[in-house]
Amino acid sequence: MKGRAGNGHGPPVQRYSALSLVRHGLTKGDWPKVWRTHELERSYDVVVIGAGVHGLATAYYLAANHGARRVAVVDKGYVGGGGSGRNTAIVRSNYLTPEGVRFYDRSVRLYQSLAADLNFNIMFAQRGHLTLAHNDGSIRTMRWRAEVNKLEGIDSEVIGPDEIKKLVPFMDTSAHTRYPILGALYHPPGGIVRHDAVNWGYARAADALGVQIHQNTEVLGISVKSGRVTGVTTSQGEISAPTVINCTAGWASLIADMAGVSLPIITHPLQAAVTEPVKMFLEAVVVSGSLHVYVSQTDRGELVFGASTDPYASYSMRGSLEFTEELASHVLELIPSIAKMRVLRQWSGLCDITPDFSPVMGVTPVDGFLVDVGWGTYGFKAGPAAGEAMAELAATGKTPALIAAFDLARFPEGRLVGERGAAAVGH
Ligand SMILES: Cc1cc2nc3c(=O)[nH]c(=O)nc-3n(C[C@H](O)[C@H](O)[C@H](O)COP(=O)(O)OP(=O)(O)OC[C@H]3O[C@@H](n4cnc5c(N)ncnc54)[C@H](O)[C@@H]3O)c2cc1C
Repeated sequence: MKGRAGNGHGPPVQRYSALSLVRHGLTKGDWPKVWRTHELERSYDVVVIGAGVHGLATAYYLAANHGARRVAVVDKGYVGGGGSGRNTAIVRSNYLTPEGVRFYDRSVRLYQSLAADLNFNIMFAQRGHLTLAHNDGSIRTMRWRAEVNKLEGIDSEVIGPDEIKKLVPFMDTSAHTRYPILGALYHPPGGIVRHDAVNWGYARAADALGVQIHQNTEVLGISVKSGRVTGVTTSQGEISAPTVINCTAGWASLIADMAGVSLPIITHPLQAAVTEPVKMFLEAVVVSGSLHVYVSQTDRGELVFGASTDPYASYSMRGSLEFTEELASHVLELIPSIAKMRVLRQWSGLCDITPDFSPVMGVTPVDGFLVDVGWGTYGFKAGPAAGEAMAELAATGKTPALIAAFDLARFPEGRLVGERGAAAVGH
């Protein structure tokens, strides 16, 4: 896979350091573009469809870990224009199944060193993650998760209302609320990251290693001959490639259809909202599955809210008043004192949901056509581990053990990896 594509416009990426900061301050020179533009070539070793965190991480690890250079990432829009620039950036590994816990833990570990690896400040803050339980059924699921987590070496435990109150003093943990809080699954390594920085950091580092990123390049068709993928047709021309990787999340089933591969995925919109910034008062990420709401506070002081997916399948990315109204009423059940804060913005993204709420990663019935999809409402945190594993699969032809359970064949073969209890409204 070695050899350089390299027809980039503009100087190559420059390392960020205290020295380069001083030099730029003195010379007042422009910083080079974070990634370069290229002419679309007629062939590549690997074409990655989708410039979200999954596509960019896959391309980066292909170049960084396997020496691949003739890699193109094509996107119909812009870097991070899909879910990767619209999510609420929660990172955690306290899932329900051993396969899920091991996989997401690898991602948390990669996030811990990602700023140094990419030479880009991704602002990963492990502030702790609380999943509240308001009924006995939820307590049971939290205990189950805590035990699976501990067996996999993950820091996770069930705590009571008094300990919750210490972690989130402004939360109403009294017994007199409509939905009293009985306990919570507390996961100290969970936290938030700056999603744009992760996307840009991967794009910049991949570019520096020779990966070509082609924005505004829509895939219109996928060529398959005798059961093998041979290339893609894009809005900018034809590309031949022996390996094509589908990293298009909410659009994944449309892209797979082009190759004649059917995915058990339904796309639903998911909305989020952000308030004006206020002084820091909320350290942990707080999630309530029963109230269909979660909240965290960014380093800038804004509260970021999310909820469940919209209850209908759609490719629309419009916000709705119903969402804001429901969100406000549910958040105020938890933290009544924020009633006067103003919501600044709300937005929506697309979520590709599978029947078992676990992703689909690996090979398909079409040789050379790989998928890294089914990321639902929880795929941002998975970007590093999925990218690393997909790059290994594309480079070696062997499915890494970490993602073996998430293959497409599990659906017809009835080997589901049920994560609904830990994935829905947990992000
Ligand atoms: C509101 C919201 C909140 C969320 N919160 C969290 C969270 O807190 N934590 C978490 O882990 N996850 C969260 N998620 C989920 C997460 O955002 C996604 O799972 C993840 O970003 C998917 O990344 P991706 O790289 O696979 O796809 P995306 O980032 O969606 O990228 C797919 C790309 O494919 C491109 N594309 C589509 N069709 C074509 C085509 N025909 N040709 C070329 N390109 C094409 C799109 O333009 C897009 O850029 C949230 C999602 C939303 C919407």
